[in-house]
Amino acid sequence: MIVVFLGPPGAGKGTQAQRLVEEKGFIHISTGDLLREAVRKGTELGKKAKEYMDRGELVPDDLIVAMIKEKLPKEGNVILDGFPRTVAQAEALDRMLQNMGKRVDAVVLFDVPDEVVIERLSGRRIDPKTGKVYHIKYNPPPEGVEVIQRDDDREEVIRKRLEVYRKQTAPLIEYYKERNLLKVLDATLPPEEVYKQLLQVLGL
Ligand code: ADP
Ligand code: AMP
Repeated sequence: MIVVFLGPPGAGKGTQAQRLVEEKGFIHISTGDLLREAVRKGTELGKKAKEYMDRGELVPDDLIVAMIKEKLPKEGNVILDGFPRTVAQAEALDRMLQNMGKRVDAVVLFDVPDEVVIERLSGRRIDPKTGKVYHIKYNPPPEGVEVIQRDDDREEVIRKRLEVYRKQTAPLIEYYKERNLLKVLDATLPPEEVYKQLLQVLGL
């Protein structure tokens, strides 16, 4: 099963993906995580991607599609988190899956207003050792766990990312609606409630 997680940055996609991995054995492919790893390792891709990421803009489609081609698992239940983010990427994904005899089975839209996203992103903290995601108010890190803030989780970059989402990514809502794949979640609710909706829309 191939599931796409769609929604603005900070909607809770990564948080829910982590749970589906732990409880249902999904494979989580986050293009944001893959890009940050490339930046950390200083690869060619990382060097090219960093300037876009720091500005809150999208990394060019050709780089993203090449990266996904390499990382897309041949087997298993997969969550694509943060990909596709443009119509061109969605078309490339459709072609790629078709060549593997597969298709996108469901697209889950994490529906949440901008104010909530801004509050979630400005309070987001990461444990760099495990990659686990916390929030200073909603999911504080345990005592002794040293957390960091992502470079792009600063107010001015957050606003840019939201603008980019609206212009370049939100058209995918229509793209997948037309294909009868779209499932909408109320992502303003607490994580437990969002997870329940997620299991329901995926029929799990
Ligand atoms: P995304 O992967 O969509 O960018 P994250 O999963 O990283 O979003 O969540 C963004 C922030 O919001 C994190 O700090 C996370 O702990 C917090 N968060 C996630 N889901 C919820 C929720 N349902 N209610 C409150 N806070 C949440
Ligand atoms: P995320 O972790 O999903 O919030 O992504 C962080 C940043 O990585 C984004 O702001 C983009 O610069 C870049 N990025 C992640 N996924 C994509 C994608 N599918 N297409 C283009 N850029 C991406």
